[in-house]
Amino acid sequence: MHHLISGAAGFIGSHLCDRLLADGGSVVAVDNFITGSRKNVAHLEGHPQFQFHELDVTTPITVAGKFDCVWHLASLASPMAYLAHPIETLESGSTGTRNMLEVARRDGARFLLTSTSECYGDPLEHPQVETYWGNVNPVGMRSCYDESKRYAEAMTMAYHRTYGMRTNIARIFNTYGPRMALNDGRVVPAFIDQGLRGAAMTIFGDGSQTRSFCYVTDLVDGLVRLSQSEERFPVNLGNPVELTILEFAERIKRLMGVNGEIVFEPLPQDDPKRRQPDISKARGVLGWEPRVGLEDGLRETVGYFKGL
Ligand code: UDP
Repeated sequence: MHHLISGAAGFIGSHLCDRLLADGGSVVAVDNFITGSRKNVAHLEGHPQFQFHELDVTTPITVAGKFDCVWHLASLASPMAYLAHPIETLESGSTGTRNMLEVARRDGARFLLTSTSECYGDPLEHPQVETYWGNVNPVGMRSCYDESKRYAEAMTMAYHRTYGMRTNIARIFNTYGPRMALNDGRVVPAFIDQGLRGAAMTIFGDGSQTRSFCYVTDLVDGLVRLSQSEERFPVNLGNPVELTILEFAERIKRLMGVNGEIVFEPLPQDDPKRRQPDISKARGVLGWEPRVGLEDGLRETVGYFKGL
């Protein structure tokens, strides 16, 4: 299989490259490095089945090749990054998605969009099931991300319906693991960084908001299974084990053997209060569920950050 992956130098993108190459595929990887890092794919340099192009998917995609599978991961996924670059975020979800869909249409390829649990906004239904339409503030600070992904989902469905294309939509919940950027502001690298420096852990709000954290190799396995499936509607991919952020900080402290204090800072606007995927559909349709427990996944992740 010949794959085109956008956002390939990002955290999830680089793990997807590894997986597809290990499965015997060939990969053309593109990234504009707005948040991705050359370091994430440095180990693939010289691999005979791997090619990298520095490219912004909001400009025409000129890379040569007839692809079997087009994966659109390029996006600014951390709140700190998308709040700093709201227009680029909207563009990668809109123009970027359209450009990647056009490559898939040209080649008769499969197309997979990585969407997000943010489509559910600050959800009024719990856990979140794919049929829930969400509670998104369309003009709030996070709207650049949420609405770009909702638009990307709508565009993907429009291409499927108009051209009969084989498309998939993954709604990804919080994911963690090696190659997250240490300073991207997300809670996993933030807490580990603070633990390694012996600094206080910063909890936004009172820490009662919840998240459910999935290890990256589990997530990538879900993406691969989804791309092989006949499911055209969105599928949640995430780990259903739900923790409050305060519990999560305590778990990381225990695992790292640190005893720093916890400080409370203001909760960002529209920060979702609860988030937990209902993965019945992924279980049923893909035969998928996460396998890596939080302790094991965090140990790998801490080890990675220690080695930087
Ligand atoms: N958070 C926190 N301290 C930090 C970074 C994040 O308490 O240093 C909180 C954040 O407010 C949110 C949760 O942790 O409630 C997850 O944040 P993250 O930015 O990782 O992802 P999100 O799920 O909000 O997209």
